[in-house]
Amino acid sequence: MTSLAGGITAWQGAQFPVVKDRELTPDQAERYSRHTKLDAIGAKGQLKLLEAKVLLVGAGGLGSPAAYYLAAAGVGTLGIVDDDVVDASNLQRQILHRAADVGRPKVESARETIEALNRDVKVVPHPVRLIPENAREILGGYDVIVDGADNFATRYLINDVAFALGKPIAHGSIFQFEGQATVIDPRAGGPCYRCLFPEPPPADFAPN
Ligand SMILES: [Zn+2]
Repeated sequence: MTSLAGGITAWQGAQFPVVKDRELTPDQAERYSRHTKLDAIGAKGQLKLLEAKVLLVGAGGLGSPAAYYLAAAGVGTLGIVDDDVVDASNLQRQILHRAADVGRPKVESARETIEALNRDVKVVPHPVRLIPENAREILGGYDVIVDGADNFATRYLINDVAFALGKPIAHGSIFQFEGQATVIDPRAGGPCYRCLFPEPPPADFAPN
């Protein structure tokens, strides 16, 4: 039996296994230095971000800026649910997509833009509509859900499924010059989206 005398060098020399904490690569240490300088984040927090999985429902006006900042911040896995293709009228605000992307699936142009910004980020495209039949399986693979949906049926569905799964939802919505943002956290027991908005507004009040 080898004793601990000689420390880690002797331990490694004797071919015993060593478990190392994961570390930021030199490139990552530089890229995320404005994060790691903050006591509340540090290298440990950055590694957690790199291991985090966030799902964006919608790669439109809300999902685009959210995805950009999450990718820049080094959130390591970004899932994107969107079954739409890029339209010229999207380009004025949906900043993940470029003029040459018109007609392409939004999940594809989103993936290219995000990967060009940060190779640390893995983009998982879900080129489908979120429906009751697939919501549980899709949301189940992520830590946090970003609700950037453009319709109320999807928003209630996200709420109900995320709540059942115990996943926090970062929720945003806009109307003309107004915006709202809130976090719905089932781990805190609510309130949920249905508590805030028990009934969807009439269709005329919810253009996108
Ligand atoms: Zn509720």
